Amino acid sequence: MEIKIIVNSFVDLFFPMRCIDCQEVIQKSQFLCTDCSSKLPFTYWKLNKDNELYHKLKNLTQVQNAYSLFHFKHKNNAQKILHEMKYKNRPDIGIDLANLIDIDLSNYDGIIPIPLHEKRLKKRGYNQVAYFAETLAKKNKIPYYSDGLIRTKYNSSQVRENKKNRIRNLNNAFEINPKLLAGHYILIDDVVTTGATLVSAIEKFNSLDNFKISVMSIACA
Ligand SMILES: [Zn+2]
Repeated sequence: MEIKIIVNSFVDLFFPMRCIDCQEVIQKSQFLCTDCSSKLPFTYWKLNKDNELYHKLKNLTQVQNAYSLFHFKHKNNAQKILHEMKYKNRPDIGIDLANLIDIDLSNYDGIIPIPLHEKRLKKRGYNQVAYFAETLAKKNKIPYYSDGLIRTKYNSSQVRENKKNRIRNLNNAFEINPKLLAGHYILIDDVVTTGATLVSAIEKFNSLDNFKISVMSIACA
C-alpha cells in the first residue's frame, strides 16, 4: 500500500467528510448526505425572461435572460452551501453545482464571474464563484473570462448598509476589461439578494455598444 493511501485512510478515519447540513458522515467526494440532497431548494427555472430573478433585475436595469439554480432562504441548504464555498475553499462544490445545470449555453459568447476586489482576493485566496463559472464554460465549450470584469472599488463591509446606499456605493465599482470584445455574455454571481452588485456590473456593460448581458446565480433570494 502506498504511503499516500495510508495517510488518506487515517485522515478519513479521524476527520471524515461530513454533510454540510446535518453533519452526518458521508463519502469523500460529496458535500451533502442523500437526505439533505433531496431537500435542495431547486428553482427548476430556465435561463429566460420567465422567472423571479429576471423580473427583479428588469426593474433595475436592462438584462436579457436570468436564471438561478436555488432559492435562497435564511438557513436553508443553499445558504449553507454558499457559506461553505465562500469560507472553506471547496472548488468541488462549485464544479458539482455547475454539473447539475442542464442548460445549453453554447450560443453565448462567454462566461464572466462577478470578481472580488484584488485586496479581498488576496485575503481569501480564491473567488468562490470561479470554479462554478469555469465549469459551466467548459461544459458548454464557450470562453471563460475570469478577468472580463474588474472590481475597482473595495467595499470593506456592505452588510449593514441599506439598499439605496449600497447601490450608490457600488456605482463605478467595476470596470470592463478593455480587451473584451462586444457580445452576449453570462455574468455569474453566487447569490442575488437586492441585486445591487449585479445591477452595477450590468450597467457598465449596458453603457457600451453591442454588449448584452444575461445572468446566472447559484442562489436567489
Ligand atoms: Zn445531511
